[in-house]
Amino acid sequence: MTYALTLSGIYGDVLHECVSCGGEKISYWRQKNYQYTQSANHKEFHIYRCASCGTGFLNRPPHTQWLQAIYQYSGQALTQAITLEEVLAREAEFPNCKVDADRMGHQADQFNRSGYARALDIGSGFGFYTQALRKFGYQTVSINPGKYENEVFRRLNGDEPLAVMFENYKPAEQFGVVMMSQVLEHLLEPCHAISKVSGLLTPGGVLACAVPNYNSFLVKLMGTRDNACLWVPEHVNYFTEKGLKVLVERNGFLVVKVEQVTRIPFNALSKRLRLKGRSAAIADGLVKVLQIPFAGLMQFFGMGIYINLYAVKR
Ligand SMILES: [Zn+2]
Repeated sequence: MTYALTLSGIYGDVLHECVSCGGEKISYWRQKNYQYTQSANHKEFHIYRCASCGTGFLNRPPHTQWLQAIYQYSGQALTQAITLEEVLAREAEFPNCKVDADRMGHQADQFNRSGYARALDIGSGFGFYTQALRKFGYQTVSINPGKYENEVFRRLNGDEPLAVMFENYKPAEQFGVVMMSQVLEHLLEPCHAISKVSGLLTPGGVLACAVPNYNSFLVKLMGTRDNACLWVPEHVNYFTEKGLKVLVERNGFLVVKVEQVTRIPFNALSKRLRLKGRSAAIADGLVKVLQIPFAGLMQFFGMGIYINLYAVKR
């Protein structure tokens, strides 16, 4: 990971207001260090928190050049190429991306009253969201900077996404649906990004977005050891439901649905306890069954792992 070494130490500007609501009551929350692979060096990051909406963010964040250098290979921490077969095998074992893509594509389509069957998939990853949108009859444009993911995308969907960062994307057309799954937490200036998305949607069009939940039970239990949400420095923003709602509302959207999603790989416990054979199988079975009421309970308290939000352009 030479990018980290060559571009280490490049921080962005100091932030004086919340990245979601624009509030000025922000204060230091915790520090998290980023350890370079095979290196004794670490980089220090400070997480700030907004007193008004609860959103967290890195302050100072990494410089945009540093993030771009990371994402040219992968947005998902892949350190080497991966094949479509490996991705599909993973999905067969723990149905994850594909299930989310089908659900979000379906919901977005239901809420889309614009009459436009054109969709933009920002941060298209392995391509499951684009695949789902096409299944629902959409013409799609996909953008994603990571070349490892884009190769899988090409094998899955037959074409290639535009390999650009959203900040540098200059669209020539408008859309009825914009999909942003696991993207906003990566973007410096998320308000700027949502304002751009708002300009890309025709009235009645839908923004569907998914982000990790800063109020999740994982963050509450593990603090800064959590890497689902607090994955530093790739994730620069940590959203709460309240913060995410305010962020889209102040950019011309009406929030029509918010839900939480919690999915725990069923072998998480047996791996953690290093179980083998029969005991591993029993632990896996327990997690499979018990995670359903557990996820329901956590989501009831607003502590699910992911937030899904759908908002209509006014
Ligand atoms: Zn705020």
